[in-house]
Amino acid sequence: MPTRSRVVVLGAGFGGLELTTILSDAFGDAIDIVLIDKSDSFVFGFSKLDVMFGRKLPASVRHSRRGIVKLGVRFVQSIVRSFDPAARRVVTDDGTFEADILVVALGADYDLDATPGLRTGGHEFYTVAGAFALRDVLPKFERGPAIIGVTGKTFKCPPAPSETALLLHDYLVARGRREATEISVVMPFGVPIPPSPDTSRAILAAFAERGIKFVKDSLVRALDPDRKVALLSDGTEMPYELFLGVPVHRVPAVVVESGLATDAFGWVPVNKKTLETNFPGVFAVGDVNGVGTPKAGVFAEGAARVVAAEIIAQLRGGPSPEAYKGAGSCYVEFGHDLVGRVDVDFLSGPKPTGTFQEPSVTLVEEKVQFGATRLHRWFGLPAPAGE
Ligand SMILES: Cc1cc2nc3c(=O)[nH]c(=O)nc-3n(C[C@H](O)[C@H](O)[C@H](O)COP(=O)(O)OP(=O)(O)OC[C@H]3O[C@@H](n4cnc5c(N)ncnc54)[C@H](O)[C@@H]3O)c2cc1C
Repeated sequence: MPTRSRVVVLGAGFGGLELTTILSDAFGDAIDIVLIDKSDSFVFGFSKLDVMFGRKLPASVRHSRRGIVKLGVRFVQSIVRSFDPAARRVVTDDGTFEADILVVALGADYDLDATPGLRTGGHEFYTVAGAFALRDVLPKFERGPAIIGVTGKTFKCPPAPSETALLLHDYLVARGRREATEISVVMPFGVPIPPSPDTSRAILAAFAERGIKFVKDSLVRALDPDRKVALLSDGTEMPYELFLGVPVHRVPAVVVESGLATDAFGWVPVNKKTLETNFPGVFAVGDVNGVGTPKAGVFAEGAARVVAAEIIAQLRGGPSPEAYKGAGSCYVEFGHDLVGRVDVDFLSGPKPTGTFQEPSVTLVEEKVQFGATRLHRWFGLPAPAGE
């Protein structure tokens, strides 16, 4: 490269971290990467469940972004206030950054106020703060109905509500409170994981075994905290004592204001093969884009790999890399200290397909390794055994 190309990456989550790691490995200090995130620490989505059910302490799942020490990469902790995709210019609380290549990996935001009553009458477990606060709420739940309720059609990690129900079951059994409680899952799909019938069957069988009710094809539109009822999209009501919600997801406002997205629910349009936006040299990676894959870390990571390969090819003048396949594996907590796995492929064939691996102790260990390898690659933590 004749001059150091400037790559600015907005968001140091799954997508941003993977992308900068690959580019740093490829170019070392021959590239100038600025990685911007408002938060000083990274938390895996699945760690939110570990903390809320008391399986891990909050401090043990926060990974400081100050640990990002990579050749060619400068981490800036700051809020992105605005960006101009045509000029590839980014304005933050800590200055303005100009880019040759701009990668938007700002994830999905939540709109808690879109569900009336949620803030005052319920809880949500999707933000770090919400999930961590539940650690002190769940021990006080003694009796009555618990609802795990999805409030919007698009939401991260589709297995998470089902995992939460199965973990809540174990948690209440351990506390001797299961007999006095009921658990229901309200979801906008006909089955828990539509692309994988085998995974759905296994989850529904686990629900039936444990007396967990699955309310299909429904959303929770609002809570009435005075009457302690959830109002569903089909007009029916469900009483609750404990409400654990998946909040409405939206495109971050700064992305809408940039013109990359049309509105709060218009996930950024991209070229399905390269993940480049309508603006040359501007890519959208992970939950923020509308490529059609589920909103999950493994998909953000896969997208980051494709964009990194594309950037490497562009800067080195090589051939374009393989197109994005939209495939990924998700580990699914099944309770009883077991983890299953679903592998889904969204873009290779005419319709999404998925395969399922039965819950096992081996997959528990595989999930631990999955986390440990990312922490090693992204933050330089010790390599997991066997690497
Ligand atoms: C309960 C739960 C369980 C989950 N379990 C799994 C799982 O088992 N497997 C899996 O693959 N996925 C899982 N997920 C989903 C996964 O966490 C997300 O899909 C993934 O993090 C998306 O990656 P991303 O890079 O697109 O966005 P994120 O990882 O969300 O990163 C976006 C980053 O942008 C930053 N940001 C946003 N706005 C600004 C701004 N204006 N200025 C500066 N910084 C900003 C944020 O601080 C954030 O760090 C789970 C999610 C939840 C909530």
